[in-house]
Amino acid sequence: MRFDSTGSSERSGSPGGYLCFRKGDERQGPGGDELPEQEGRPAASEEEAISCKICRFEITSREHAVEIDGQNEHTFFNPAGILFEIGCFAAAPGCADAGKPTPEFSWFPGFAWHYSFCSACGAHLGWKFQSGEGSVFWGLVLNRLVEGERAAG
Ligand SMILES: [Zn+2]
Repeated sequence: MRFDSTGSSERSGSPGGYLCFRKGDERQGPGGDELPEQEGRPAASEEEAISCKICRFEITSREHAVEIDGQNEHTFFNPAGILFEIGCFAAAPGCADAGKPTPEFSWFPGFAWHYSFCSACGAHLGWKFQSGEGSVFWGLVLNRLVEGERAAG
């Protein structure tokens, strides 16, 4: 739209309205071949996805991360002396649970645990912790997960 009458906003300060016409033409152009804004925003949910390192099945996402006892990441040894670094998540939709919850050797007092596996490939990814009061969270082994990555191709 172009207004060559007196009231035309930004160009009204120029001495000669017709000169400004030229500029206007250059500036407007036909348009359409290049969009200044990129189409397709980056999908935040994909970047925050946390997936099984083996099969890249999405297990949980960063938005489910929770702090347990004041921190999200915990380091523990299991009874066999193996070190685990785990992150705590309020939900892990990609996990399948196995076994009955047991309070034995629980890293979180008051919470019983059972194993959590990747529901796609069956890899052991961590543990689900459950309190008698109904609180639930997942402690997932961080080096068995990948964050913000998708399978190549
Ligand atoms: Zn998997």
